[in-house]
Amino acid sequence: MPSSSSSSSSSTHWTVALVASAGGAIAAVVVVVVAAGLLRRKDDRSGGPPPPHDYDDDDGETPPVGSGGGGGAVVEITLPEWAASDEDDAIAGMYARRYTTDDEMMSLAIRMSDTNVKMGTGGPFGAAIFERVRRLRRPTHGGGGEMNEGEGEEEEEEYCTLVSVGMNRVVPLNNSTLHAEMVAIQIAQSKLGSFTLSDMMNDGGNVSNDNNCRKFELFTSCEPCAMCLGGTLWSGVSRLVTGATKDDAQSIGFDEGPVNDESYVYLENAGITVTKNVMRDEAADVLRRYGRGGVIYNRCPSSVVDG
Ligand SMILES: [Zn+2]
Repeated sequence: MPSSSSSSSSSTHWTVALVASAGGAIAAVVVVVVAAGLLRRKDDRSGGPPPPHDYDDDDGETPPVGSGGGGGAVVEITLPEWAASDEDDAIAGMYARRYTTDDEMMSLAIRMSDTNVKMGTGGPFGAAIFERVRRLRRPTHGGGGEMNEGEGEEEEEEYCTLVSVGMNRVVPLNNSTLHAEMVAIQIAQSKLGSFTLSDMMNDGGNVSNDNNCRKFELFTSCEPCAMCLGGTLWSGVSRLVTGATKDDAQSIGFDEGPVNDESYVYLENAGITVTKNVMRDEAADVLRRYGRGGVIYNRCPSSVVDG
């Protein structure tokens, strides 16, 4: 289903408001954590732009500095309701569980892309950021009798937890920068209160890795475009994992921009591990279905649109 179809769901939860000064430069980033029941709700009709937020309504909300007159502007980034509701057990479970394989994590990124298309809330791209955790765990004794030698010694366990999800929101929110990766990165950094994910120190329990820094990994259903490769580099993630390829995206008409092998060499030299083609067929299938009528907002000038 193309993103031009309508959806009656509302967008809530994480709102990242970029407050621009009168001169146009970004002056501050205000993160509003929207709690259930206290939500700032607005229509999320993907068939057209969402209405501007009304700061004159009676919800008592104070407009951010720079909004309103004088040339200021507020940019809101919202997840669709199906990915953000606090009342949804599936969403809560998504954040509560542990992930141990690349396929498990890529499956979530692909689910974001697939559902985004089906719900008409954006383009066919999904992403997720996970934190890789390595901890020492002392096995529980099986009970009965004395412990044998070696029993009870600490073992290292490793798993990932979900930090944020993202999906393409370009058309519904009238914002060319809201690719899935950029949404996931911005929400993760807002949640963690850090402009980079690269220098966050471990808490006491995580024995993970070099320099005692927490490690975050970006999974995306398709190889990033030029913008998102740059966003990945600046984000501070330690690993990038991709599903469908640049060619898969360009085969339905999307332009990925100036991305080449050297782009990935640069990332690797910057310390970002890259893993490609994880569940490529499943990820590309979402693209193919979207290509039969979905809005191609960054059209590739040299490609032939499939169907
Ligand atoms: Zn992108």
